Amino acid sequence: KLSIRNLRKSFGALEVCKGISLDLAKSELICLIGGSGSGKSTLLRCLNLLEHIDDGEILLDGEDISVPGYDPERVRRRIGMVFQSYNLFPHMSVLKNLTLAQTRIRKTPPAEAKDLAMELLLRFGLADKAETYPDKLSGGQQQRVAIARALAMEPEILLLDEITSALDPELVGEVLRVVRDLKAQGITMLLATHEMGFARSVADRVAFLSGGSLLEVAPPEKIFTQPDHEQTRQFLKRVL
Ligand code: ATP
Ligand code: MG
Repeated sequence: KLSIRNLRKSFGALEVCKGISLDLAKSELICLIGGSGSGKSTLLRCLNLLEHIDDGEILLDGEDISVPGYDPERVRRRIGMVFQSYNLFPHMSVLKNLTLAQTRIRKTPPAEAKDLAMELLLRFGLADKAETYPDKLSGGQQQRVAIARALAMEPEILLLDEITSALDPELVGEVLRVVRDLKAQGITMLLATHEMGFARSVADRVAFLSGGSLLEVAPPEKIFTQPDHEQTRQFLKRVL
């Protein structure tokens, strides 16, 4: 379980997260929505310790991982993150992309790492791409490899940041299908997205971020049909 308590983050004079509190329960999928610049990516980056927070707490099963000196590698083993731009290692095969962190960071024996990697590739329909290099894959395939790579670390929580934004429309579906599968398996996820239809159909709860504040967190049916805030209504009117 992840508990975000009054998280604050500024870049210089610009306060980007203005005291955000949110609980992500085990096996829950929360979709984070909000306009460009509302702080979605920054919040996710803070949770993965890619940014230092200025104030507040990030509790992972009750343990504050935001305290100075907490080992970021330890956090990233437990909280995986997938980015819009895939960030695969270009000079490594798909298989190597999936085994590297397992053997280096988790100290998994190579044969075992390979087994898990192949199992994931099979599940994602990519088994025949194991020896391929990322630049020979479509965007949708690269993104599925990126998700598989994050899962290879067997994280407790997966953070997904606009994972379909860089994809051609016809490739969006295959990546969203993977998220649906993960949801069915009970993987805990926090997913920033502009795909409102997807958020509505798959999220347990939707969190609306506006100007660095979480205005409203509720089940999708409520957010999309009777939001409490006028700002939520205006935002949805613009994007739907
Ligand atoms: P989008 O939907 O476009 O991805 P977002 O909700 O993810 O937007 P963020 O990327 O979190 O928004 O950015 C929030 C604000 O913080 C923006 O005004 C952005 O310019 C600013 N910002 C983000 N990262 C930095 C940084 N490293 N240095 C300075 N300002 C930053
Ligand atoms: Mg973003």
